[in-house]
Amino acid sequence: MTEATETKRQSGQVRDGKWLVLTESTGEPSVNYVHDCGTEILGKSVSYPIWDGPTPLSGSGRCESKTIPYCPKCEKEPGSLGEPITPKGSYHNP
Ligand SMILES: [Zn+2]
Repeated sequence: MTEATETKRQSGQVRDGKWLVLTESTGEPSVNYVHDCGTEILGKSVSYPIWDGPTPLSGSGRCESKTIPYCPKCEKEPGSLGEPITPKGSYHNP
């Protein structure tokens, strides 16, 4: 038995600086959001490692934490570890 996960889109997408899933939702900000499919939108805390060092994969070890909104019905649950942040001037973003 396979779950139809391939029909779910990637969570955490942004359009015009706003969370895509929230732009598609109804509801009051800071009260609750309900996606246009009728499912309540959940938030998932995601940590982003900060790679700000001068060599590959190096950095101070800090992480930035964000809450990613997602629709559990339409979107994949975000992983708890996000894409690394590479500040300008670091090895990965010279
Ligand atoms: Zn949905």
